[in-house]
Amino acid sequence: MPAHFQHPWRSDFPILNIEREGAPLIYLDNAATTQKPQVVIDAISHHYATNNANVHRGVYSLSQLSTEAFEQTREKVRCFINARSITEIVFTKGATESINLVASSFGEYMFHQGDEIILTIMEHHANIIPWQQIAEKKGCIIKVVPISENGTLDLDTYKSYFNSKTKFVSMVWVSNAIGVENPIKECIEIAHNNNVPILIDASQSIQHLHINVQDLDCDFLVFSGHKIYGPSGTGVLYGKERLLEVMPPYQTGGDMIKKVTFEKTTFADLPSKFEAGTPNIEGCIGLGASIDYINGIGIKDIVLHEQGLMKTAIEAIQSYDFLQILGYNGSNVSALSFTMKGVHPHDIASILDKKGICIRAGHHCAHPLMQFYKVSSTSRISFALYTTHDEIIQCIDELASIYALFS
Ligand code: PMP
Repeated sequence: MPAHFQHPWRSDFPILNIEREGAPLIYLDNAATTQKPQVVIDAISHHYATNNANVHRGVYSLSQLSTEAFEQTREKVRCFINARSITEIVFTKGATESINLVASSFGEYMFHQGDEIILTIMEHHANIIPWQQIAEKKGCIIKVVPISENGTLDLDTYKSYFNSKTKFVSMVWVSNAIGVENPIKECIEIAHNNNVPILIDASQSIQHLHINVQDLDCDFLVFSGHKIYGPSGTGVLYGKERLLEVMPPYQTGGDMIKKVTFEKTTFADLPSKFEAGTPNIEGCIGLGASIDYINGIGIKDIVLHEQGLMKTAIEAIQSYDFLQILGYNGSNVSALSFTMKGVHPHDIASILDKKGICIRAGHHCAHPLMQFYKVSSTSRISFALYTTHDEIIQCIDELASIYALFS
């Protein structure tokens, strides 16, 4: 591998040693999913090779070992986001399921005809459709906070939306489509000044920013394991205990009950009440390994490294007038969206693929945001802790060649 592609953390990720199209893999689609370090891969195979049994059920020691390893991850997640208690950490299969859980359970319990829910125009579909579904069922209204051209949330409109009918806010912290960071603490304060609970979609923050849910004081926070160097099919819902306590179960079945008779079922305490059925045991154990891995490096160093990458990318993209960045306001975190004059994003991504460079082309599951920018798709580059400055420069140099080819 050429020296300029080397990075202290890179060698921890076996896939990054693989060549694609005769060149080292340049993976710049980290907002879609991150690559996995060897320690995560090892944790999963170690579990299968030595500890595998179902959790929370067996009195035999193998099941207890499996349960311990699984539950250790809950404590690791609690510590990582500084939740007050492990009762506030619910395992799900991803951010999507976490949001669906809150929308349908909290919505079922709290929403009534004419109530209002606040979202923003930059939400991922996973933070739109669950709210639409419950709004339709309960006769609620969704209000959408706009942004300015550079991606900045319109806080005046946000503030003006609150009234006695407002029941919930659900908002992304960092946009997956344009990388803009919302002033999340301020947004939480505004919601709370109006006595409205707020869910934070931290899918694109958990791997790039330091998160402290007690300091943020958010009511719910969600993320996916696969975006934080962990396995797919794992996710977390953080919720304040007093809210989770009063919410009805989302799914029902084994492992979430105290007692079942054909007349009546009583439900288990938190967090089991929201974890029906056999969970993704090995996935959660892998997630625990990914959190250990991040802690081993230190989120502060990751933040610094990725801020440097953003500076490199912005300067390089802005040096070409045929590239137009969508939604850049200086707050962007590890993702940038752009268009190229006269060239379709899918053509760009296909040509880069032939050079071993993976970037995302499409609507990024954010149709309303694409409609706002009057485009059907964009090209997006997104970074991770193993991304190097040279990879970004090489990718952007290739963009110049593609533009030359098409013009
Ligand atoms: N919200 C945001 C901001 C995301 O980026 C994503 C994934 N792209 C999701 C929600 C949904 O995550 P998942 O598909 O892992 O459930």
